Amino acid sequence: MKSTSIAAYGATALSLLQSRDPAGFEKLFQYLTPSSLRTLQDCLCEALDTKTTSGTHPGWQSLSSTEKTQCCNEVVAEAVLRRLVFKCLRKYSTCSTPQTMEEALKHHTLPKSLKEELVERYGGDPPNTWYDALQRLKVIADNNADQRNPGLWELVLDHPMTAYVPVQCQSCGLVVPDDLNSDLTDEQVGLREEEPTDEEAPLVRSGWFRGPRPHAKVFVLTCTECGVVSRWFRSRDPYVILNAQKWGRLCGEQEDLRLDLANYLDSHPNVLASGLGSYLERVQ
Ligand SMILES: [Zn+2]
Repeated sequence: MKSTSIAAYGATALSLLQSRDPAGFEKLFQYLTPSSLRTLQDCLCEALDTKTTSGTHPGWQSLSSTEKTQCCNEVVAEAVLRRLVFKCLRKYSTCSTPQTMEEALKHHTLPKSLKEELVERYGGDPPNTWYDALQRLKVIADNNADQRNPGLWELVLDHPMTAYVPVQCQSCGLVVPDDLNSDLTDEQVGLREEEPTDEEAPLVRSGWFRGPRPHAKVFVLTCTECGVVSRWFRSRDPYVILNAQKWGRLCGEQEDLRLDLANYLDSHPNVLASGLGSYLERVQ
């Protein structure tokens, strides 16, 4: 019981830290690195060591240094888990409707090179849209009577439709190096931020790209190879994410798209039975 009450006291102290510096607190949690975790732990230990609310907890004072560190770790770990659950629930709340998803799948005409790649890989007629390509996957999944072959959901996850696409020049395809494999500045790679146009504004979201980007911006790329100017932005909208014309699709967009596709396929019971259902059976 003693440890529980100290943990509750720790959670109160953590809330107090948040109220003192909401932006700084959010930043520490948003990009969890060893350094930010260490800072969180130090701030929390310091807050618990001083009078934060109605005085220090008597149990806290009797803990050894190691026990205090352990206690802080537990409080921070619980907060991290709570925030992850909250983010998952919030993500589910943004899921596109099956109708929107189907329209988005039918919206983009696939480029010739992609059509050829898909025919070579999956057979059938050249697909004009992602919707056509998905129909081809359904045929393949239906023909896979042998359960050792991939089901629909596995085919979807391995399909160019849901693949990672690096941000690149939308003319020549020169890839913009991300921050993990480049020390180049935005300016050096030909990139600058710009406010979205009225048309773009509802589609643009904030998020990581070559570092944290807390505000929803459009990235204007002047290609260092061919000189063509491209506009690109992070988005939650499936119409944007499914753009097949050298449009960057980062990990976050991949996850959003998978969620939308799972929800879309889930709305077709026969597809669920042959696709997601068989997949779930195999992984159990
Ligand atoms: Zn280019």
